[in-house]
Amino acid sequence: MQIPGGAARAFSFNSRRGLSTTSRGSSGLKINFDRLWETLHETCKWGAANRYGEKPTETGMARLTLTDDDARIRKWFADEVQKLGASLSVDQMGNMFARTPGKLRSSAPMIAMGSHLDTQPRGGRYDGILGVMAALEALRTMKENGYQTNYDVGIVNWTNEEGARFPKSMCSSGVWAGAIPIQKAWDLRDIHDPNVTLRSELERHGFLGDIACSSDAASGFPLGAHFELHIEQGPILQDTGRSIGVVTGAQGYRWLAFTVRGRDAHTGTTPLSARQDPLLAASKMIASSNDIAKRHNALASTGVMKVPSNASTNTVASEVTFTLDIRHPQDSVVHAVQEECLKSFTSIASQDGKGVSFDWTLDTDSPAVQFDRGCVGSIQAAADALVGPEKWMEITSGAGHDSVYTSKHCPTAMIFVPCRDGVSHHPTEYCSPEHCALGTQALLDSVVHYDQFRSESAGKH
Ligand SMILES: [Zn+2]
Repeated sequence: MQIPGGAARAFSFNSRRGLSTTSRGSSGLKINFDRLWETLHETCKWGAANRYGEKPTETGMARLTLTDDDARIRKWFADEVQKLGASLSVDQMGNMFARTPGKLRSSAPMIAMGSHLDTQPRGGRYDGILGVMAALEALRTMKENGYQTNYDVGIVNWTNEEGARFPKSMCSSGVWAGAIPIQKAWDLRDIHDPNVTLRSELERHGFLGDIACSSDAASGFPLGAHFELHIEQGPILQDTGRSIGVVTGAQGYRWLAFTVRGRDAHTGTTPLSARQDPLLAASKMIASSNDIAKRHNALASTGVMKVPSNASTNTVASEVTFTLDIRHPQDSVVHAVQEECLKSFTSIASQDGKGVSFDWTLDTDSPAVQFDRGCVGSIQAAADALVGPEKWMEITSGAGHDSVYTSKHCPTAMIFVPCRDGVSHHPTEYCSPEHCALGTQALLDSVVHYDQFRSESAGKH
């Protein structure tokens, strides 16, 4: 994880951009903090679960995608954006696009503020939800102030970001970006009920839209830019006393799966020197991957390890499988960690007793992502004006987000706000009212800044 000195970079970047009037990061509009907070928590009645405290807001959320509760918030969201004069389009993955017209009446794709309203089964009230509610508050603020952007602006609610019910995360932004075939996404089955597919749930709730799920201008819903406010889901902002993270990209990651083969044997009668023990070898491999990751300032994690279901205390296991998840903001480091792990694992495989064999597969390869400099610059300007250079920093996203997919087809960047102790995907996930408000204001200011930047740039050409 990189923790660069944000302030210094911000100034050099802004001066290089050389903007005059639009380099001021403040939009002059003020979000309504009480309305934001009330709307966010009021709508959490759909899916509230796993109470952990006395206060009404002290519950987690279990609003899995395309459940009845998710359908309720979607219908509510559709009503709210239409009240603001937005037109609503729904694509074939149920992604919801709310669009309000800009002054220019340009047919260019809208500047979007997007995130997701679905949660994990033991999720919290902020992951994804804050991003959509902040976007709504930004539109409400513009509307009540009679403020009109130059270009069209709007909101996206991406379907099945979490992948908790239909197991593919960032699923529908992935289809939109052309990275996941729509049929594959439609065919995903509910992890608890194989008779239910993502498509059958879209149909049941009336969210199988008629436009293509695509960034293609002719058939789908292209975007002119994508800004996403999200809780950090890590401890860096809190630990460094910053209130805004300007997200410059997302780290690369690779998921590998290993199968280590040995031979089952009696634990009392087989000397150590005669064994082929895959569990011992796999354990050493995992420990070794941790050492290698540390040396590279990268991350390596094993989340799944399986021994045969008929294993027993007094038998050496026959076969072990485990996963390895390697991450770093630079792809070259991810690759270097993988290479060193493979070398080390080969050596470990021959170390004990008669040795073991292993093979591996690469299940996921997600290269590092650099967000758009123009979008990042707008967020920097907004953050500077809002909290001053000491209180924000540049940060790389450790998790995947819909913005990773949108960045492949439109200028994209993200804003992070701190969450308590970096906890997310847990009922106690918490972002303070002040930080929710700051993030929302930063989102609004960034979009207004970017809209001015976009029209100035267009004017120059
Ligand atoms: Zn999220």
